[in-house]
Amino acid sequence: MANTHRSHPGISQELLAVLRCTACRGLVEEHSKGLACSHCGLVFPEVNGVVRFVSMEYYAGSFGFQWKLYARTQLDNEQSRRSEQAFRRRTGFGPEDLAGKLVLDVGCGMGRFAEVATRWGARVVGIDLSVAAEVAAANLASSSATVFQADVFQLPFADESFDYIYSIGVLHHTPDCQAAFKMLPPLLKPGGRIAVWLYSGYNHWYSMSDVYRKITRRMSPQLLHKFCYGVVPLYALHKLLRRIPLVGRPASGALAYLVPMAFNPDPKWRILDTFDWYSPWYQSKHTYEEVFRWFESCGLRDLSVIDQPVAVQGRKAFAQESRAEFEQPEVERCVE
Ligand SMILES: [Zn+2]
Repeated sequence: MANTHRSHPGISQELLAVLRCTACRGLVEEHSKGLACSHCGLVFPEVNGVVRFVSMEYYAGSFGFQWKLYARTQLDNEQSRRSEQAFRRRTGFGPEDLAGKLVLDVGCGMGRFAEVATRWGARVVGIDLSVAAEVAAANLASSSATVFQADVFQLPFADESFDYIYSIGVLHHTPDCQAAFKMLPPLLKPGGRIAVWLYSGYNHWYSMSDVYRKITRRMSPQLLHKFCYGVVPLYALHKLLRRIPLVGRPASGALAYLVPMAFNPDPKWRILDTFDWYSPWYQSKHTYEEVFRWFESCGLRDLSVIDQPVAVQGRKAFAQESRAEFEQPEVERCVE
């Protein structure tokens, strides 16, 4: 049974035991300003309810803007379970997997998927590089989740800490998606599972947005957001075009190719999703072959393709599995 006694507001003893200093890997303890390293004394201040393991948003500033503005738009409620559906399609995890488990959400944004996991009974730790961490902390205040502002390349956790790790639509927004992914498997307990969802490298329908993003990512988020309101009349134009026999649909297709945009029927989601495409500084696309190789190179096994491309799930070996294979001669392993 996990010790869930909270000695520090929002931070359980269980969590303190797995937290590590980002500078020296020393144990972290409570401090009047937040948390501090018990070895080198580095202080990780708590600001607006979130302990900060980084002092800047770096390349993730647009996400801080985005999730402060759309703080609750994508949170599930009585009427909508869209985040829960997306969570299943992009991780393959369900309540039967996550209930009672310690789970790491890498790049939690405003906390839409962490909210699903906590509803399923998981104890979730969310990290985000941007100040969206503040929004997630507020959204998840009444749940069993804890949120930190932290960098995937400098994660403040001990190895073999988590039962499950997921990262949904995040790692492709780092300067090196593969390197970011490889930071995660060491944090899994033996037998633990990891799932990531990344933008698909198979779909070239949106390729023009990569061209435009060279400019749009340099715009202020406020200005770019105003531009994204253009998807409201554009959506109406698409609907109109598609009603024209024969030429209407190809014309709508050509327009969609030239000006890629989200087509969510809900205008608020449509503006948000379009902003989300055009604002990130980094946005790489990936194939299953690539991602499978990353998983394999980390020693993960039981790899599976999850519903929505590109989503892959894998499991970390138990110590005895690795030992048994090591002791078994290679030739025997290949015999069917
Ligand atoms: Zn330290």
